[in-house]
Amino acid sequence: MASRLYKVGVTALSATIGSVVASWTFDRWNSSHTVNNAVARPPKRKRKLISRDEQIQNLQSGEEFDVLIIGGGATGAGCALDAVTRGLKTALVEGDDFASGTSSKSTKLIHGGVRYLQKAILGLDYEQYRMVKEALAERASMLDSAPHLAHPLPIMLPVYKWWQVPYYWVGIKCYDLVAGDRNVKGSYYLSKRDALELFPMLKKEKLVGAIVYYDGQQDDARMCLAVALTAARHGATVCNHVEVLELLKKDNGKGEQVLCGAKVVDHMTGKKFTVKAKCIINATGPFTDSIRKMDDPTIKSICAPSSGVHIVLPGYYSPEQMGLLDPSTSDGRVIFFLPWQRHTIAGTTDLPCEVTHNPAPSEDEIQFILSEIKHYLNQDVEVRRGDVLSAWSGIRPLVSDPNKDETQALARNHIVHISASNLITIAGGKWTTYRAMAEHTIDAAVKEIDTNMNGQVELDEYLQMMSAIKMGEVSYSRFARMAELEEQKEEAAQFKRKITVDRSGGGL
Ligand SMILES: Cc1cc2nc3c(=O)[nH]c(=O)nc-3n(C[C@H](O)[C@H](O)[C@H](O)COP(=O)(O)OP(=O)(O)OC[C@H]3O[C@@H](n4cnc5c(N)ncnc54)[C@H](O)[C@@H]3O)c2cc1C
Repeated sequence: MASRLYKVGVTALSATIGSVVASWTFDRWNSSHTVNNAVARPPKRKRKLISRDEQIQNLQSGEEFDVLIIGGGATGAGCALDAVTRGLKTALVEGDDFASGTSSKSTKLIHGGVRYLQKAILGLDYEQYRMVKEALAERASMLDSAPHLAHPLPIMLPVYKWWQVPYYWVGIKCYDLVAGDRNVKGSYYLSKRDALELFPMLKKEKLVGAIVYYDGQQDDARMCLAVALTAARHGATVCNHVEVLELLKKDNGKGEQVLCGAKVVDHMTGKKFTVKAKCIINATGPFTDSIRKMDDPTIKSICAPSSGVHIVLPGYYSPEQMGLLDPSTSDGRVIFFLPWQRHTIAGTTDLPCEVTHNPAPSEDEIQFILSEIKHYLNQDVEVRRGDVLSAWSGIRPLVSDPNKDETQALARNHIVHISASNLITIAGGKWTTYRAMAEHTIDAAVKEIDTNMNGQVELDEYLQMMSAIKMGEVSYSRFARMAELEEQKEEAAQFKRKITVDRSGGGL
């Protein structure tokens, strides 16, 4: 057994080191062969947030937008922010409210995926490895860009078999190694005694010890809103409760029909109107096929939705600052307990489902999670149905890649597809990689539309979400320094202004 373990450990470690070196060499090669189009431009002053009525007026003004994004979840909001900070005239419409879809129903983790890295190493799968690496880099930039909505979270992997200690330890160290200088904090081993001290409700019997590693946790609904509002402050027109009913086409002069706008309805007033745009982006998550079929009713569906249920339990089910995750239970599923706003979220892996606007968890799914979590808790903790304070179900927009005709297998990462009439569909991926997904989508959009922006990215990784500058943690970042300078200028200007007192009214 010891020699087998030794072999597994050495193979895993050498595969990771090999992949890290290969990736580093590739990245260096790639960066030295990429023409840097970015042109240093002075930062633009952000405008004040305008009201929804004004946003609607902008939308109905008849002016042509560079891009019209459909969907105000993580993906659509990210696209709006990326597009507007590149200088594109941007509009976003969301049929319901921002983050009302999957983006507020996630597990709230900002992660690369320990399980995906395990698959990458054991299967010597380079593509999977690149996905984890990308997500780990995005994890760091998300934590930096919105420290008021996201924070590092230690997660414990309980170990019940002695041989799993070196196996998990090597695996988690590889996770840290792949993150490189973008790692959140280093992982460590805990003895049984220390593990129980930190997580007293953990099952003691046969516990050998635990490994603790770090990922991020975010307030997903507020994060989505922050991204949409930040886009609005940079000048994007973003409207909730505006649904796309129909896509409009025109002849492009070469006898081809291309998209030129959309017919929408404002659900607050019932008014229908048309929005003109050079390019339309479909970022509707699980509803991706409904928009694709508005463009071309004959195309095949690509979305294979699967739903995941979470339950909220009282805070005493988990320590306030430590999550628990078993990345592969005996029957191959993931189970987790995570602290969340002084409560505990518990859940397990997703199951295939139908797409609906308000998916609701079934009683069976709730009972299943309750029965699963019993295996990880001390016998003294009685798991009762009455402890379930709330539950939700979210639909994961898994898709097959329409760029690959030969396979109907589900894409492991996000896909960007451009239809014959120029509908750009961005689908799949995960919350953690929303920024990278947006960047790839807008890269595709700028190629489609007549613009001289040509891939310029402004502020990119230094971009902070709205309200982030109020937090002490980011006061040293470039963006915060710029904001401070702006504020100082504003204060100085106000100081110079004459103070006038209005004496016409009564009161004080
Ligand atoms: C159970 C579960 C747990 C998850 N946990 C994590 C996690 O911990 N970490 C992580 O990184 N990822 C996680 N994910 C994945 C992540 O949540 C999703 O990938 C992401 O939220 C998808 O965002 P989206 O914007 O593409 O879709 P959505 O958030 O669903 O947004 C699409 C929007 O389009 C709108 N729309 C649809 N049709 C129209 C129309 N005709 N006109 C206008 N608007 C329209 C909808 O109203 C909706 O708001 C999880 C997913 C699930 C299901």
